[in-house]
Amino acid sequence: MTRLAIIVPCYNEEEVLPGAAQRLRALLLDLKLHGEVSEGSSVYFVDDGSSDRTWNIIEGLARDDPSSHGIKLSRNCGHQNALLAGLFSVPGDAVVSIDADLQDDPDAIREMLAAHRGGVQVVYGVRRRREADTAFKRISAETYYRLLARLGVQIVFNHADYRLLSRRAIDALAQYGERNIVLRGIVPQLGFNSAVVYYDRVARTAGVTKYPFRKMLALAVEGVTSFSAAPLRAITALGLCVSVLSFAGGLWALWARFVHGEGVVPGWASTMVPLFFLGGIQLLSLGVIGEYVAKIYMESKGRPRYIIDRKV
Ligand code: UDP
Ligand code: MG
Repeated sequence: MTRLAIIVPCYNEEEVLPGAAQRLRALLLDLKLHGEVSEGSSVYFVDDGSSDRTWNIIEGLARDDPSSHGIKLSRNCGHQNALLAGLFSVPGDAVVSIDADLQDDPDAIREMLAAHRGGVQVVYGVRRRREADTAFKRISAETYYRLLARLGVQIVFNHADYRLLSRRAIDALAQYGERNIVLRGIVPQLGFNSAVVYYDRVARTAGVTKYPFRKMLALAVEGVTSFSAAPLRAITALGLCVSVLSFAGGLWALWARFVHGEGVVPGWASTMVPLFFLGGIQLLSLGVIGEYVAKIYMESKGRPRYIIDRKV
């Protein structure tokens, strides 16, 4: 029988945690009752350096229920690293990751397990509709998924971090040593046979998003630069186009001066516009290169992705 581990990253989730824990515990009991998972199956809450009462709540949950556990990171390491900390430190044949706010329907775990029993190593939870999200979040996310696909990054459309990984898939994932990790881009690269389970995403039950615009943007940039050198190539192409255009412009100026015979009027526009245009392109290009250099810098230091403080 499958031994299931559910990992829940929690960053300042005191408002939603009690309710979420209760719902997950009920689901686990029901799965055990129907013989779908083994007795040792558990829920693991990963406290990602919360500054509120999250850890106290987790300690309480672990005291009251033998199938609830807690892992406390030494500081806020970020959602992706909290997930990794969970994936690499919990036992089980199958590990499901789900957000603490239960925006992703926990009942889909049942279908994920069924697929896993059928021999599937990776099951992706995919949002059927995103009505619960704000229009901005929905449009920006969907545009982003399309952009990644165009850049050649293998990605499952509208899948975030709600997924089931088998033990074999987790062992394969452990071989990826990079510091900057975006799981939704790495997991499809693992290969293995996979399946998709659809669910409806609902609104957060309480609390506010722990992904403000700043963090969302950071994850988006990370997602592109970790998997694709396309922005670097785009700079080369841009540079080439601008060079060809300015060469043609130079030829035109010569033609206007010597063949057509009229003087090329030195105006503000014709001087300043290309100046600012080229300056802008150069700054942009430097920025993109800098982004990749920074990435190499971080990787070369080989720092730990997370540090576990204690477990209950
Ligand atoms: N989270 C985390 N560390 C962080 C930010 C978020 O562990 O630095 C967790 C958070 O507690 C939640 C999940 O990541 O369980 C997703 O965050 P949230 O629901 O706020 O994101 P959204 O659904 O708004 O994209
Ligand atoms: Mg959420």
